[in-house]
Amino acid sequence: MKYYILFGPPGAGKGTHASAIAEKYNLKHISTGELLRAEIAAGSELGKEAKKLIDAGSLVPDAVVEGMIESAFDTIKGVDGFLLDGFPRNLAQAADLNAILAKRGEEITGVIGIMISDEVVRKRIAHRAAIEGRADDASDETITNRINTYHAQTEPLIAFYKEAGKYYECNGDQGDIADNRARVLALVETIK
Ligand code: AMP
Repeated sequence: MKYYILFGPPGAGKGTHASAIAEKYNLKHISTGELLRAEIAAGSELGKEAKKLIDAGSLVPDAVVEGMIESAFDTIKGVDGFLLDGFPRNLAQAADLNAILAKRGEEITGVIGIMISDEVVRKRIAHRAAIEGRADDASDETITNRINTYHAQTEPLIAFYKEAGKYYECNGDQGDIADNRARVLALVETIK
């Protein structure tokens, strides 16, 4: 099985390009953010707890997202691998993911980093707020907290995966969506 991680700051285009990658390589796209929003929409206990943290732009507890990921690995069949989007989000989750995969005799195939500047993050999220109506896209304070959370907790994963020889990166902000998608797909082709 292939295990790809789609990596980048909020608004980099992970969700936008995920379906093209998943389709091309017969992968199941798993977005922890989308799974959490589904829990909120369903009104579950987990959703209620997660909502406060998500609306503040903070991360939900590692055990919550790791449980979702493991249950996806256990139950989803008929694919050649997984495309993880929004997970892992900190070094503890990355270490736990390595352990989860090692238990299954598997390992990360590659990390697909899509990079944009903080300024573009703000523009993209403001634009998305108008289209998707996500509560965590609507307030400046929440967006600032998500950008800070990204730099403090998520960005260190770049060094972690570089060290492991698994990190691949391209720019997510040159040209239109089709140009960016083509660049991301070309990047994934280079992962062996
Ligand atoms: P996203 O859709 O990936 O931007 O995620 C939206 C929000 O869900 C994040 O700002 C976090 O509050 C929460 N979230 C998503 N994935 C994770 C994760 N791997 N660890 C902790 N919190 C997460």
